[in-house]
Amino acid sequence: MNWQEAKQLKTPFYLLDTKKLIANGKVLKQIQDNTGCKILLAQKAFSAYDLYPVLEPFLAGTEASGLYEARLGAEKMPGKECHVFCGAYRDDEFADVLKYANHIVFNSPNQLKHFGPQAKAAGKEVGLRINPEYSTQTHAIYDPCAPGSRLGTTREQWDKLMTPELIAMLDGVHFHTLCEQGAEALAVTLKGVEDKFGDVLPKLKWLNCGGGHYITQKDYNIPLLEKLLIKWRDKFSLQMYLEPGEAVVLDAGYLVTTVLDLTQNGDYNLCIVDASGACHMPDVIEMPYRPPMVDAGKAGEKAYTYRLGGATCLAGDVIGDYSFDHQLKIGERLAFADMALYTMCKNNTFNGMKLPDIYVENLDGKIELIKKFGYEDFRYRLGK
Ligand SMILES: *Cc1c(COP(=O)(O)O)cnc(C)c1O
Repeated sequence: MNWQEAKQLKTPFYLLDTKKLIANGKVLKQIQDNTGCKILLAQKAFSAYDLYPVLEPFLAGTEASGLYEARLGAEKMPGKECHVFCGAYRDDEFADVLKYANHIVFNSPNQLKHFGPQAKAAGKEVGLRINPEYSTQTHAIYDPCAPGSRLGTTREQWDKLMTPELIAMLDGVHFHTLCEQGAEALAVTLKGVEDKFGDVLPKLKWLNCGGGHYITQKDYNIPLLEKLLIKWRDKFSLQMYLEPGEAVVLDAGYLVTTVLDLTQNGDYNLCIVDASGACHMPDVIEMPYRPPMVDAGKAGEKAYTYRLGGATCLAGDVIGDYSFDHQLKIGERLAFADMALYTMCKNNTFNGMKLPDIYVENLDGKIELIKKFGYEDFRYRLGK
């Protein structure tokens, strides 16, 4: 990255990495070429649409969580497929959903019954999200197969509610049960899908395996993924889809911050930076996880360890423990890595915190401003 030029910019800011977006895109394109699978960008992870032209050549289209993302996908990646899955569609929005999306996935037989005929009449591909009830992960908040989950239709619900008329409306089914997982987890999940819904699959045109595939992570078993996609394509004559978010933009952005204060409490060296976990990297609190940082190690790995946090009032606004070769100084810059995903589109202005500006480093190494934020961006959502 062009850190020299980035030094001139006022923190906090995101710096997106065009080169890495392209590198990720190439990996995804190759898989599509090798298997006939189609890969979509899950916009909920990344919707900085100024970069869609960079990603577009490598993707079949976008995936949306509802009307607004569907519209963004249709408008900013025109001519490509636009898929939408929503936990529940609204009567007053559905006509607009149909305007933008060409694949509509419903969460329940109820929703399929209520909206499916309109979608079919509009010439759309119609799908149902299934819940294979096969958990492969331990993050309860991200486990749609957990007991009592509202996401997806279980086999029991299917048997009770899916009439022949409803089944006849389906072009495909969709499942999404993984989160930052390998092809091995997909393999056992597909087995779970086959055990529960194997009889349904031969009647369908497509199977969407959702997101959570950690494809661009260095240890990911791409040959196994390709084997699975080809096997399922051939066994059931299905068009296979994947809709990763993270994998598309993995490691393709930084959040650059400045050290505002350094204090000590007992054994802890504390450091407050001008970015907040709660506001600018919400998954750090929700997931939880610790983002990597340029030139820093885990606690105790290097000589000086600090607990980093935001300037908000939230006691839990702790970003994580990091160690450095030198003692930190007030005014020094720290760059969190892997910050393109689940940040810009998920940020909030809790405590009136400023939103970090967004920049991109282009292929020629030049840094370009995408968006600056200020007081108005905090104020305008709150009143007249
Ligand atoms: C979250 C989500 C994705 C993307 O997940 P990643 O973990 O970012 O790959 C795709 N599809 C659906 C339905 C999702 O809810």
